[in-house]
Amino acid sequence: MWSSRLFWKLFGSYGFLSVGTTILFVTVVSQWQQEQIVNQIKIRLHDAAVLVASDILDELVLERAESLQTQLLRLRQKLDTRITLVNLDGIVIADSDRVSVSDVLQMENHRERPELRAARLQGQGTAQRRSSTLEKPMLYFAIRVDKNQEPAGLVRTALPMTRVNQQISSITQVLWVAAILVNLAVAGLTFFLSAHVMEPIAALTKSAQAIASGNYTSALRVKRQDELGTLANSFNLMSEQFSAREQQLRESNQRLEAVLGGMAEGVIAVDERDRVILANAAAAELLGFTMADVESLSLLEVVRHHMLQQLVTDTRATESLQRAELEVHSGSENRRVLDVQSTPLPDTSPQRVILVLHDVTDLRRLESMRQEFVANVSHELKTPLSSIRAYAETLSAGAVNDPEHRGTFLHRIEEQADRLNNLIQDLLSLSRIESGRQTYDIATVNVADIVTTCIAENQGAANLKRIHLSCSDIQQDLRIQADEEGLAQIINNLIGNAIKYTSEGGEVTVVLRQQESTICMDVRDTGIGIDEEHLTRVFERFYRVDKARSRELGGTGLGLAIVKHLAQAFGGNVTVTSQPTKGSTFTVQLPVT
Ligand code: ADP
Repeated sequence: MWSSRLFWKLFGSYGFLSVGTTILFVTVVSQWQQEQIVNQIKIRLHDAAVLVASDILDELVLERAESLQTQLLRLRQKLDTRITLVNLDGIVIADSDRVSVSDVLQMENHRERPELRAARLQGQGTAQRRSSTLEKPMLYFAIRVDKNQEPAGLVRTALPMTRVNQQISSITQVLWVAAILVNLAVAGLTFFLSAHVMEPIAALTKSAQAIASGNYTSALRVKRQDELGTLANSFNLMSEQFSAREQQLRESNQRLEAVLGGMAEGVIAVDERDRVILANAAAAELLGFTMADVESLSLLEVVRHHMLQQLVTDTRATESLQRAELEVHSGSENRRVLDVQSTPLPDTSPQRVILVLHDVTDLRRLESMRQEFVANVSHELKTPLSSIRAYAETLSAGAVNDPEHRGTFLHRIEEQADRLNNLIQDLLSLSRIESGRQTYDIATVNVADIVTTCIAENQGAANLKRIHLSCSDIQQDLRIQADEEGLAQIINNLIGNAIKYTSEGGEVTVVLRQQESTICMDVRDTGIGIDEEHLTRVFERFYRVDKARSRELGGTGLGLAIVKHLAQAFGGNVTVTSQPTKGSTFTVQLPVT
């Protein structure tokens, strides 16, 4: 409380007012009192003068000076005032403060004394001045004595001012003592009142400071029925409401953060000066910035992409939703395609803008894969169909009657029809495997048995090219859970490719071994090999290192894609290592059950 400025203002104002009022009051009252006393003394002097005048009316002549002096000395005792008798010429005839007549007669002429002059002219006069005779301040009162309607002389009564002043100062003293006592009482009361008012205000101030610093827990305990009590109660209520609102706000912020954080779409909001005011983790990941970098930076500083900035500018200019597809290269990540939707935030001017980013990289890749696939399928179908049509047309144009060429043409038609059939079979097979519609007859199979069967099946083709097809290090009794037909398809495709892409006299070897809980099957050849740049792509549909060669050899470009999907369907995978001109090794890994 002692440090409270308001307390000192209140206390000081009351104190100043009280002291000021008291000084004014005492001054006015003592002035008034002084006038009252002087007036009373004047009345007394007047009465005394009148009394003297009635006593000496017939004797007021210089000749009677002796007797008048004696009378005055007597009256002086009675009236306790100085009495002076003066004739109309100003000569003092008798004076109660002089012992003898000779003393009186030596007194200077009093004609021009202001009180006597006024009395001579107007009947009475008064003056307050220093007596040159007695040499002290005096209060004088003079009257003119008329005899038979004619002025006969002047009677003057006087009292020393010291007596008047004594009375005034004793009254003033009493007044000041009373004033000091009243002031002390007022000061005490003021102190008490100020403290009484200040106590709840200090508590309110403390509580308001606590709320400002986010602490809503300190409720005010003011048990008063007056306005301050009502204010304290309202304050408590307000504080509770604040606290509840803050809690609501915090919860809704947490919900918003959780929603934004859990969204796969990136969200960025920018204010009217393009500073980022909100960004979620997905946006940071898609655009390659860290959340800590965002605070109070502009969009262009956070994401160095001018198209994004342009989108925001357009949205603000048109005040409508804008869309664009952006390509971004975030960090070491690959290229990404983002579909960005930019919307103005309602009720903000100039407008804030919210950006929602969808990662459509996969969608666009799938789209282009689909287009590529359709183009590839069409092309693959067109080639044998064109051949069949050409041979058929040639036959119907007359070659059917040419026994020499007829057989060749019909054989070619059969070949192209087989090719078409293979292609369609592979497409159907791949489609079933990829879509998950393929049903597998999963059972425990002995891999070595299937490898042996497949080698036997491909032996004829190998022999045609004088290729040595064999198996080595075949570990018997390696059993896995798989579909027998699917597993045979994997092995046949790999052995078939190895034979296709190995020149006459080469070697194709199948190796089967177990590594911990995995069965590894290598199909090695001494063929043309594959350049490193193609190694990762040979498992894509229709991907062929040498298209013409593949077609010539009856390939569809789908064999390795089928192998990859089948291996994955059985919980395994397929990899390739190769050295151009030296040969390739395809390795299938399948889990042992
Ligand atoms: P294709 O029907 O053309 O053989 P695949 O999907 O089976 O289609 O193979 C894809 C491509 O991978 C082939 O066109 C060929 O270029 C390459 N390839 C596959 N196997 C071998 C191999 N053993 N040696 C060399 N190249 C191969």
